Amino acid sequence: MIAIIDFGSQTTHLIGRRLREISIPNIIVEPAEFFEKIKTIKYDGVILSGGPTSVYEKDAPTIDKKIFDIGKPILGICYGEQLIAHLLNGKVKSGKKKEYGPATLTILKKSPLFKIPSSSYELPAKIAVWMNHGDEVQKIPNGFETIGTTDTIPHAAIANEMKNIYGIQFHPEVLHTQFGIQILKNFVKICQLVPTDKPISKDLVTQKIADITDSVGNMNVIGAFSGGVDSSIACLMVYMAIGKQFTPIYIDSGLMREGETEELKNVFVNNYQMKVKIIDATYRFINNLKGVTDPEKKRKIIGQTFIETLQEEAEKHGAKLLVQGTIYPDVIESAGSKHSKNIKSHHNVGGLPKNMKIALLEPLRDFYKDEVRRIGDILDLPKSIVNRHPFPGPGLAIRIIGEVTHVKLNTVRRADQIVREEISKANLDKDLWQVFAIFTGVKTTGVRGDDRAYGETIAIRAVESLDVMSSNFAKLPWEVLEKISVRIVTEITEVNRVVYDVTNKPPGTVEWE
Ligand code: GLN
Repeated sequence: MIAIIDFGSQTTHLIGRRLREISIPNIIVEPAEFFEKIKTIKYDGVILSGGPTSVYEKDAPTIDKKIFDIGKPILGICYGEQLIAHLLNGKVKSGKKKEYGPATLTILKKSPLFKIPSSSYELPAKIAVWMNHGDEVQKIPNGFETIGTTDTIPHAAIANEMKNIYGIQFHPEVLHTQFGIQILKNFVKICQLVPTDKPISKDLVTQKIADITDSVGNMNVIGAFSGGVDSSIACLMVYMAIGKQFTPIYIDSGLMREGETEELKNVFVNNYQMKVKIIDATYRFINNLKGVTDPEKKRKIIGQTFIETLQEEAEKHGAKLLVQGTIYPDVIESAGSKHSKNIKSHHNVGGLPKNMKIALLEPLRDFYKDEVRRIGDILDLPKSIVNRHPFPGPGLAIRIIGEVTHVKLNTVRRADQIVREEISKANLDKDLWQVFAIFTGVKTTGVRGDDRAYGETIAIRAVESLDVMSSNFAKLPWEVLEKISVRIVTEITEVNRVVYDVTNKPPGTVEWE
């Protein structure tokens, strides 16, 4: 068992998940409750997570120094490394360069933490790591040595091998860190545990469905069904668990992509005989969004409109429970743990009104997207659904910068359709996490048929990711980008400029709002 102390990082739970994947039980504890908790559990090592605060700030979350004397191996990640340095009389300061994204780690010393399975790795070896920090360790504590460095920060990895205390500035838990999982396995071995890989299985899914049957009893249930991967799989699991007691509700907000409602009817109503109730609420949504430009307000309004509509339906169906396709990253980004920061409100988590009259059933709350997709495969869902690109709950509204209007919606919807068509023609869907168009609201000068034009700018965003806690912009072929651009400016006359977004996450999120 590994105890993970949570200092509020967006990716703390990803550490837990990685450990689960290699069959290592773990618990996530708040710093203040650590010493109390470990009185009753047997544990073999401690991981100190990252976190949004700076260790030298007043009131920054911390832990009693006696943790270093308990004789268990310790790994500090990011804030965790900084905390080790801070508490053991090293020095942490705000860095000259803030690093958000990829960096190259040079491994300087042989270390049990860096046993990387490649004999060609002569020291100093270089590996690609993922950074997300503004502070850095300036002076390492006595008894420590620097075992890894990058161009920007000298002490990117530190170790006190005698005491089995390690600190790394990068995040091994995100999939963008090359050998990240290997580094965690190495730490687990330092803790005298044996890591073994463990996939999502049929048994686990059967178990989950049985859990739903048991917990629902004879209650009626409705579902927020958007046709996306998460809500489809969540609803299908509930449908398999309780059959007729369940009514999935599809609310057409008018913020959907072209052809979406038809596709959904095709798959779920025709193929699965799931009796999806379709509600056209376009005018209600657009009316509620009138004059609103703030992204967080938009998300909240859309969330509230969804919930209001669903609550009305719940009453009609005498339902006590609402199924949502909330998955783990939604929970994290909506600030699910005590010390983490709210990045954006997901309508299915952060936007819920306080006076909700209905309880939530979220069968996928603990899973990440790739896990959810594996569940979909196990349930035999068609590949076209399982591999569907995610589409945000607030829909096209958060891809329009500024006020949402019918005209802008129409423009961005057409651009989106062109983007998706060209990406599919080039057979690139499977390589991308998401690809879409944004109505930027920026007008620029152009020339059309020798005349001056003053038109809209559409931005294209395409990203690669596995679990979306981090992602890179995709290096799309120029020919494909050119085709998209030419088609957009020719087929949508109000647009005269197309730009490509080359920002990674962090610091950019996938959606613009
Ligand atoms: N807040 C700290 C910094 O900016 C730690 C960041 C982290 O743990 N991701 O350096």
